[in-house]
Amino acid sequence: MSRAVVTGGAGFLGSHLCQALLERDIEVLCLDNFLTGTPANVGHLLEHPGFRLVRADVTDYIHVPQAVDYVLHFASPASPIDYAELPIHTMKVGSIGTLHSLGLAKEKGARYLLASTSEAYGDPLVHPQPETYWGNVNPVGPRGVYDEAKRFAEALTSAYRRTHGVDTAIVRIFNTYGPRMRPRDGRAIPTFIRQALAGEPLTVAGNGSQTRSVCYVDDLVDGLLRFLLSSEPGPMNIGNPHEIPVIDLARRIIGLTGSSSAIEFVPRPEDDPTVRQPDIALARRTLGWEPQIALDEGLKRTIDWFAQHPDVVGATR
Ligand code: NAD
Repeated sequence: MSRAVVTGGAGFLGSHLCQALLERDIEVLCLDNFLTGTPANVGHLLEHPGFRLVRADVTDYIHVPQAVDYVLHFASPASPIDYAELPIHTMKVGSIGTLHSLGLAKEKGARYLLASTSEAYGDPLVHPQPETYWGNVNPVGPRGVYDEAKRFAEALTSAYRRTHGVDTAIVRIFNTYGPRMRPRDGRAIPTFIRQALAGEPLTVAGNGSQTRSVCYVDDLVDGLLRFLLSSEPGPMNIGNPHEIPVIDLARRIIGLTGSSSAIEFVPRPEDDPTVRQPDIALARRTLGWEPQIALDEGLKRTIDWFAQHPDVVGATR
């Protein structure tokens, strides 16, 4: 049986990833400091004999005595609200955390998957964004801490591949949504669902014409596992190319929840990207992957989960 170490495994994406690895008979050691994640996200996995959850801050050190076949580095604050609140930690986990997790992969001879982001493209001047685009990032703006940490992490991962021959893979994840997102993490979909379920106005930034391309979490995890189990190095975009203006997203969520909420326009955050759409030709060609779950279906599943978790919806963070 093979074994994976997942940093940030108690977060939104990490928890789905841990579950999918276990379903493929890969043992999982989940390392998390519960900064933005919670043990509840993996509560349903704790009884699984192949799963272990260890509280650890990967910026301190990572020590794993057993053999490891895969290291998946997903630890990082990921929403604009989180990394605005935790700017220095975001840079530490993207730099020192990446260094430590790469060191583990080197020591164990493991394949390494770095969770990078579409934010590496910044406010893109090329649309849709292929992996060959180098990006348009403001290093000193409020989002710079996240974008540059991930760009540094990509560079460090590439250096470990070239210098130490580590079998690395870099995935650039585009906006993903689904169960276990935090309703107050500031991202559009959980915010709109929380507001719609509470009958509050949906707060749309700007005039809502900025676009997002959103991928349902099960599709994303399918792409991540195909990538992990391949020998491709990336960087590789994984995301859903179906692009939609934020205002339409809000209207759909009002429709699907049957809410009577109104829409309220609020100022757009600084450096908020205007457009965002992955070019997924590389993933299609090399992994045979493309998203399968239509937006309304994914939204329905997410709304159902939020409706069944009033404790999460009512939480203050
Ligand atoms: P999340 O905040 O739910 O998960 C991140 C996890 O990392 C949390 O459980 C948190 O407690 C943990 N963590 C943070 N610092 C840590 C540290 N020093 N040591 C150990 N654990 C630590 O976020 P998410 O949306 O699941 O994102 C996971 C990864 O995917 C991140 O690296 C993020 O940058 C990347 N990503 C996510 C998206 C998305 O749409 N969700 C898009 C692009 C990239």
